[in-house]
Amino acid sequence: MARIVVTGGAGFLGSHLCHRLLDRGDEVVCLDNLITGSITNIEDLFGQPGFSFVELDVSTFIHVPGDVDAVLHFASPASPIDFERIPIQILKVGSLGTHNALGLAKAKDAKFFLASTSEVYGDPLVHPQPETYWGNVNPIGPRGVYDEAKRFAEAMTMAYHRHHGLDVRIVRIFNTYGTSMRPDDGRSMSNFIVQAIKGQDITVYGDGSQTRSFCYVDDEVRGFLALLDSEVVGPVNIGNPNEYTILQLAETVIDVTGSSSKITFEPLPVDDPTQRKPDITLASTKLGWAPEIDLRTGIERTTEYFRSVLAAG
Ligand code: NAD
Ligand code: UDP
Repeated sequence: MARIVVTGGAGFLGSHLCHRLLDRGDEVVCLDNLITGSITNIEDLFGQPGFSFVELDVSTFIHVPGDVDAVLHFASPASPIDFERIPIQILKVGSLGTHNALGLAKAKDAKFFLASTSEVYGDPLVHPQPETYWGNVNPIGPRGVYDEAKRFAEAMTMAYHRHHGLDVRIVRIFNTYGTSMRPDDGRSMSNFIVQAIKGQDITVYGDGSQTRSFCYVDDEVRGFLALLDSEVVGPVNIGNPNEYTILQLAETVIDVTGSSSKITFEPLPVDDPTQRKPDITLASTKLGWAPEIDLRTGIERTTEYFRSVLAAG
């Protein structure tokens, strides 16, 4: 049993992580300022032995009394609609927030785990993307606030590892979906499923030929724990290598949900990556990890979740 701090623990991925850690007997201190997260994601954990929550902006200062075995840094808005809405907060949590979380890990002699992203590869010129690829990022574009903050976070994490000998892990997370996503977070999966449930037009940006590879949250979190428990520093890609065009995703969502929605086309956002697919050789060979949940099953589960959220208003 370990005492683990999860920053961003009230968010989509962080809340799943809090649940899995408690399930296996760890103690969890969840830190979140609720800027994009929600208490709803963790309300069933309040009162559960071993769980505590502190509302806190980790970009300011982090103080956690007592021993800590690991700091899992998941705090950061991650949806492209947030890149324009709250760019400074994103830059701050990726830089100052990461520095504070690293400082906490160092002070407690704890393991540090960084939630990085496939966005460090930008609009990739190498396909699929191995961890050795350095990326193709526009630092001054609207996505740069997120991409560069995460690239800085990786650099800072490796500096603490090399300079201070801190025990670190870096995961590069590819597009993940599932229960506890915000129905209005603006991502393709949530938009399409909600639009399909409501019988509204499915909004494909551009001509829909850009690709993504979608990983169901249960598979993704299993990968996080495999990395956390391993001796591998990383970065390690954790994502589902099955690649789809966004048009294929829209058609699959319509099919799985049995919706009468039609597909419409809207302008492609600036710097939207044209292709994305993880090379997961490292995760499979070093961690024995591979995703198990196929796209249709994942969409079915996520649709059921969004139906209940929408029904509850
Ligand atoms: P999310 O927005 O649901 O969760 C992020 C959480 O961090 C939220 O609860 C938010 O309130 C909290 N937060 C943000 N800034 C904070 C701050 N300054 N102080 C304290 N809490 C703060 O997003 P998510 O999809 O769960 O992403 C979690 C992490 O995983 C992020 O670091 C993100 O970059 C990374 N990631 C996610 C994906 C994905 O597909 N979901 C892909 C790549 C990387
Ligand atoms: N996208 C889309 N319609 C939407 C939302 C997103 O066509 O309603 C596109 C978006 O432009 C991108 C892809 O779907 O090309 C994946 O977008 P998402 O926000 O899910 O993730 P990211 O771009 O961060 O990979």
